[in-house]
Amino acid sequence: MFSGKSEELIRRVKRAVIARRSVQVFKPVIDDRYGALVVRSHDGDSFIARPVRTSEEIPALVALDTSVVGIDEVQFFDPGIVHVIRSLVANGRRVICAGLDQDFRGEPFGPVPTLLALAERVEKLEAICIVCGEAATRTQRIVDGIPAFYDEPIIVVGAKEAYEARCRSCHEVPRRLPAMQSEGESSESRVPRDERVRLASDSERLSSSDNERLNG
Ligand code: ZN
Repeated sequence: MFSGKSEELIRRVKRAVIARRSVQVFKPVIDDRYGALVVRSHDGDSFIARPVRTSEEIPALVALDTSVVGIDEVQFFDPGIVHVIRSLVANGRRVICAGLDQDFRGEPFGPVPTLLALAERVEKLEAICIVCGEAATRTQRIVDGIPAFYDEPIIVVGAKEAYEARCRSCHEVPRRLPAMQSEGESSESRVPRDERVRLASDSERLSSSDNERLNG
């Protein structure tokens, strides 16, 4: 996040267009919303992208004369995306994927580890850690002002969420204490610890949108 993945995907597909290649870009439908029909970078550059619900939809949508297929947010696809991409490549297409390699917990994200292993070329982009300014390779999830727990539900009803770029040292994924686990996941159990308060102070932390502008 904030590392310029979409910019890089857009840059590459636009170069393919300049080279007179026929290009199609796909992206996953997230949260049941189709959203905009474009891949848009933080600096406003964009390219038309077709939203699809599952990887299975892609093969039938790829035109015969398409030689380059772009896939954005590939981490959100089902495991079947690996087979789909391998088939496209076996049929002579060049496939360019952009996605996060780690989820907010710092764990390998969905099909991405497999794609990294199979890819001819891999470029790992870095954002800027908003805490210390070092190169950031991780996504910090913040729920109601404090770092999200390792087992935080993907959707926390009524909570205010933000994501930040952070380096390995500043990335925080607190584990719930056993007593907290037995209480379930009520909002009362999300008590900030001292070390979290340091990072969560409003004066230090940029809003998500500020961060996007800064890190592009
Ligand atoms: Zn840092």
